[in-house]
Amino acid sequence: MSPPAGLARPLPPPRADLGLRPGYHSPQVPVEVRLNTNESPYPPPSEWLEALLAEAGHIAFNRYPDRSARALREALGQLHGVRPEQVFAANGSNEVLQSVCLAYGGPGRKAVMFEPTYALHAHIAHLTGTELVQGRRRPDFTLDVSAAVELVEKQGPSIVFLCSPNNPTGLAEDAPTVCSVVAATNGLVVVDEAYGQFASWSALGLVAEDVPLVVVRTYSKTWSMAGLRLGYLIGPSEVVQALERVALPYHLDAVKQAAGRLALQFSSQMEHRVASVVAERQRLVAALCALPVQVWPSQANFVLWRPRERAGQEVWQGLVARSVLVRDTSTWPGLEGCLRTTVGTRDENDRFLSALAEVLA
Ligand code: PMP
Repeated sequence: MSPPAGLARPLPPPRADLGLRPGYHSPQVPVEVRLNTNESPYPPPSEWLEALLAEAGHIAFNRYPDRSARALREALGQLHGVRPEQVFAANGSNEVLQSVCLAYGGPGRKAVMFEPTYALHAHIAHLTGTELVQGRRRPDFTLDVSAAVELVEKQGPSIVFLCSPNNPTGLAEDAPTVCSVVAATNGLVVVDEAYGQFASWSALGLVAEDVPLVVVRTYSKTWSMAGLRLGYLIGPSEVVQALERVALPYHLDAVKQAAGRLALQFSSQMEHRVASVVAERQRLVAALCALPVQVWPSQANFVLWRPRERAGQEVWQGLVARSVLVRDTSTWPGLEGCLRTTVGTRDENDRFLSALAEVLA
């Protein structure tokens, strides 16, 4: 059947302000070595998959899942030593960030972030109609704490985003920095710790019922489950209740809830993978330092670097020609000429290093 004659007309325009911001998409090029999206280079443990398949046999697929994801939140609460009421989970930490913006941002409210940082903080805040206040980091990408405090005090935001370790620079914040920012605002401080397990310090220890701070984590990196789309937040239960009000009913499907809960039984394998990624990161940084590139210290599973004598884009293309894909951040504001490489397996890192040596020769 086709629509009756006369029904056709121009389609309505979407919101005019939906422009994509730089850094939102990472081009996917068919290559042998993919080091562009900060995933884990290892698959999840096979025992986890076996446990999930066994559990899937008991799921009542004709029924809606547990709307409150109680068992998953209990397991996450146990992992972090908090009550399940202090845990909010969603489809990837991006959706957690979106929920925060829906509940605490919106028209007439502001979100502060310090660029260069994770592009989605600005993007999601913008999509939810939240006014962006984009502070800057120092040229070495560290945060000038007194300038940050001054900006927050002047702007009075509803949300302040920190990212630790910061994507794409790899630098982590410390306790005095996070505490100073919390003390300077009446809004909610969001510490995005998507790469938190790779770092030497976490803001999780600052979470309390009467501290306006939340810590966001993901299954996409350390837990090797980027394909699962699961992230969560630890914070005051009052904040979690507000986030539940903006989440869609049954937003977490039953398989995902089980998968996330079962994954936590394999913490020691996860820690082992983190340790090997950190060891490879150190090797990668040392090898990069021997080449004509500037390298920033990283506490994450990626490294930011800048060729000293060649244009970033040209080097990126040379790597693609050798079937190695890294993230081209060279045109992002504040990151001129920089490229970002995800730490891969030993073989992948070797492929990257020898391709880079060739390109720079
Ligand atoms: N926060 C940061 C800092 C990230 O780098 C990423 C992924 N690139 C995310 C959040 C989103 O992760 P996910 O939605 O896969 O949990």
